[in-house]
Amino acid sequence: NLKIGVVGLPNVGKSTFFNAITSSSVAAENYPFCTIDPEESRVAVPDERLDWLYANYKTGNRTPAFLTVIDIAGLVKGASAGQGLGNAFLSHISSVDGIFHVVRAFTDPDVVHVEGEVSPARDLEIIHNELRLKDLAMLDKFIENNRRNIERMGSSGSVDDRKKRDEFAIIVRVRDWVSEGNDVRKGDWSNKDIEAINAQHLLTAKPVTYLANVSEKDYVRKKNKFLPLIKKWIDENNPGDKLIPFSGAFETALAALEDPQQKADFVAARDNTASAFPKIITTGYESLNLMHFFTAGEKECRAWTCRKGAKMTDAARSIHNDIADSLIQVDIMKFEDLKAAGSEAELKAAGKLIIRGKDARIEDGDIAYFRSGE
Ligand code: GDP
Repeated sequence: NLKIGVVGLPNVGKSTFFNAITSSSVAAENYPFCTIDPEESRVAVPDERLDWLYANYKTGNRTPAFLTVIDIAGLVKGASAGQGLGNAFLSHISSVDGIFHVVRAFTDPDVVHVEGEVSPARDLEIIHNELRLKDLAMLDKFIENNRRNIERMGSSGSVDDRKKRDEFAIIVRVRDWVSEGNDVRKGDWSNKDIEAINAQHLLTAKPVTYLANVSEKDYVRKKNKFLPLIKKWIDENNPGDKLIPFSGAFETALAALEDPQQKADFVAARDNTASAFPKIITTGYESLNLMHFFTAGEKECRAWTCRKGAKMTDAARSIHNDIADSLIQVDIMKFEDLKAAGSEAELKAAGKLIIRGKDARIEDGDIAYFRSGE
């Protein structure tokens, strides 16, 4: 169950974002078997390929991949030093897999900004620093707790001691990197480094998608004076991280409309500007290095989540351990082939069904049929 936490200073629109996404059409409440928590919302990861499968297999059930979005309130300047909810808040972040960092890019004299003027670069810097300082404290604590032990073992050659020394040296390097002002995820780490880093559950190791909350007017005209500054900050500090503008006001109004025709009219009256949610969810999902494959049949069409680069057995395991354990081979249909052929029967007649072994890698969009051996 993958989770993305919504993080940002107070009054930037986190709850607005969260509430709108919860009542929007991507929210899982539109899938009757799901329930929703006050601070947790399960949202469907939109995928047109699943919609196509559903329409063409004429099945009764369509199950998308899901992402859980969590509202994490309470981050203020000084949180890493215990200000506000401080540490409690930061520990919530340590339980999520990725972060939506909401930054305020709308001016509204009625909405007070905790730091005075609207200034996204300063806000980004504050949050970035709080997370980084928390990581620094954790790394320093690890170093402090282990230093004496490492010194005492000297150059002992036992495998265990060598492993501990290596790990210690890696963490010292990570600490230096973080203390120079960098987020952990932007470092150039080896697989061995990453293993040691993962054990620390560091906040700045988590993938971040930046969400700029702009006014409805700016969202519709696709122009906002703060966006270039935010982009510049990201390029300078965390190059490669994605930035998506949305409007809390726009999304709230759109999500409140229940009738599809009213929704369509609302969008048409605004230059055909669509909700940013599908893009936000897809981008967040991809930031976790995830992809999905499908199963399709008469009973159900379903999207399943797995890591990019996963093997067939790993993919099978997301469905059921038994299938993975006794897996023999996998019949794969490429989505584009299936769509071009028009149906499974025609795809097979055209000789386009692909047989793969259990150690082959599954690819995004594959429609899989797992053959297991009992
Ligand atoms: P949070 O503290 O980050 O969760 O912020 P909230 O979602 O509670 O929003 C703080 C205030 O900003 C509320 O009064 C919202 O109505 C307002 N707000 C949120 N998004 C927008 C927006 O896009 N435009 C305007 N004008 N106000 C907004």
